[in-house]
Amino acid sequence: MTPELAARIESARAVLAEAANDFAPAVFACSLGAEDMVLLDLISRDRLAVSSFMLDTGRLHDETRELLARARKRYRLAIDVYQPDDEALRDFHQSWTDAQIFESVTARKACCNARKVVPLRRALSGRGSWITGLRRAQSPTRTMVPEKSWDGEHGLFKFNPLAAWSSDDVWAYIRAREVPYNPLHDQGYASIGCAPCTRALKPGEDERAGRWWWESADSRECGLHPGYFDAKRP
Ligand code: SF4
Repeated sequence: MTPELAARIESARAVLAEAANDFAPAVFACSLGAEDMVLLDLISRDRLAVSSFMLDTGRLHDETRELLARARKRYRLAIDVYQPDDEALRDFHQSWTDAQIFESVTARKACCNARKVVPLRRALSGRGSWITGLRRAQSPTRTMVPEKSWDGEHGLFKFNPLAAWSSDDVWAYIRAREVPYNPLHDQGYASIGCAPCTRALKPGEDERAGRWWWESADSRECGLHPGYFDAKRP
């Protein structure tokens, strides 16, 4: 492990500890992507008082479900699963068909709202802070991601301990500590979300280009995280 990566790890541990100790109860929104497996490993090693959850949209890859089982076994951590409300799905289907998510950004965001944003609200209710694996280098929508900021929409602090990490840092950590990861990464998937809306990257594309690839780069967020083009540091 290089001294640079060791320093990044220490910094991420400090951010995680601040969330756990000073902004309790802290919760980790774990998508089981590569970054989130690093965070799960760090949380587990430091035995932090952080609970973890994932959003099961009903559209995940089999590989992601299988990784959930492996992660639970490896870390012996409870990872709560939040699913969409029937009512939110009914509302979506009253206005749109599933096929329309590929034709209309409004339809696509309505699907993400029903399957992700509404369940996220439930998962964050009553918490003092939440933790994510966002990194600045992931995409044009994330270039200003801070390590800590106030999330006014949900009324709690949001921590992004890997904000300054590169993709190489993430993968060096995974290799060094033999962290389990989604096998889809080995097939060229950088960021993994719902199966219908995720594809492998083509050479030269940014890390989020495989998500909602039919849309323009500045709309490729699902509503869980605002665009960080111009977010002010706290
Ligand atoms: S990523 Fe695609 S399938 Fe998943 S919630 Fe968003 S639009 Fe729906």
